[in-house]
Amino acid sequence: MRGRRGAFQVGSFRGIPIRIHFSLLLVLPLLAFLYGGVFRQAARTAQVPPELVGGVPLLWGLGMAVGLFASVLLHEMAHVLYALRTGGQVRSITLMIVGGVSEVTELPQRSRDEVLMALVGPLTSLGLGGLLLAVAWLLPESGAFNPRFALSYLGGLNLFLGAFNLVPAFPMDGGRILRGLLVGRMGLVRATRVAAWVGKGLALVFFLLALLSLNPFLGLVAFVIFTGAEAESRQVLLRQVLEKLHVEQVMTPRFHGVELSSSGAEALGDLRRARKPALPAIENDRPVGWVLLEDLTQVSEPERSLITVRDRVRPAVEVAPEDNAWQAMRKMVEAQPPLLLVLEQGRLVGTVDAEDLNAAVELHLSSEERGGGWPRWRQERPA
Ligand SMILES: [Zn+2]
Repeated sequence: MRGRRGAFQVGSFRGIPIRIHFSLLLVLPLLAFLYGGVFRQAARTAQVPPELVGGVPLLWGLGMAVGLFASVLLHEMAHVLYALRTGGQVRSITLMIVGGVSEVTELPQRSRDEVLMALVGPLTSLGLGGLLLAVAWLLPESGAFNPRFALSYLGGLNLFLGAFNLVPAFPMDGGRILRGLLVGRMGLVRATRVAAWVGKGLALVFFLLALLSLNPFLGLVAFVIFTGAEAESRQVLLRQVLEKLHVEQVMTPRFHGVELSSSGAEALGDLRRARKPALPAIENDRPVGWVLLEDLTQVSEPERSLITVRDRVRPAVEVAPEDNAWQAMRKMVEAQPPLLLVLEQGRLVGTVDAEDLNAAVELHLSSEERGGGWPRWRQERPA
């Protein structure tokens, strides 16, 4: 059980960790209670005689809640299986309060595969829904009421899950399908922008509907779609720009750092003068790691003059000047250092932090919008 952003691992599938978000544990008893009420109400409405109800409503409610999460997991597994089959990479599957999230770190190369990868999830849900409804229909009417009702209700939920995910808006699967269909015609960046516009338009429609019907769930959906559209287009633009740049084009040139032997107080002075949250740590002209402002401010002032940078140094993550800037960004996200050290033949020539990457992206996007000088977007994925 390894914690990571509020989730813990419950198992794995093809070596990919399956995690459950804590919010789900809170919502599980609530759902069990709500579904229990649905079961009680359904038996009453159908005027089922007590001997034919078949079980405690609350337990059936709990079974429904677990069944719903199992359905979401199957939906995610369909995505993951397809991604793996077509050369994608998946880091984790996390079940959350609003559904499942598969962290696909490397998308399939062809846009056709991306469309299909997005499509297999909803298709699995729709298929599962149809199957459950068929089994419920085949059960004899003279039998117990609750099992039949559970199957048809879970079937209905799966149909909803499948249909809802086909809504053409990020972060729903439908958004990816729409983008994948547009990529061949207009390239990845424009396709993502168009799909994001469609998503924001739909979010607005959902928001108005939520206001008119006073439905908080619909309001939440509108919010998730709006922020999803924003995040997705940002991510794609970032990648498109950074993939064309080398580290030396985005780095801050820097040939000096904090000496490993200098005191904590001296290092803090250097960091404050440089106005940086972190600086490289140097020993005998060789960069050996980096020192973080936060690590030094946590030490009390008298103690700060007694410790050296060596006591607080963190291991370096290195890149080369000719490395791809997108790869550098991936390294930064995976290892979570606020700073990458750029080394040329073992010597420090610069540093890259999130600010450097953002500045590079903004610069190139603004020059693209002016229409001057910047080459046309290279199409990343041949359709
Ligand atoms: Zn999906």
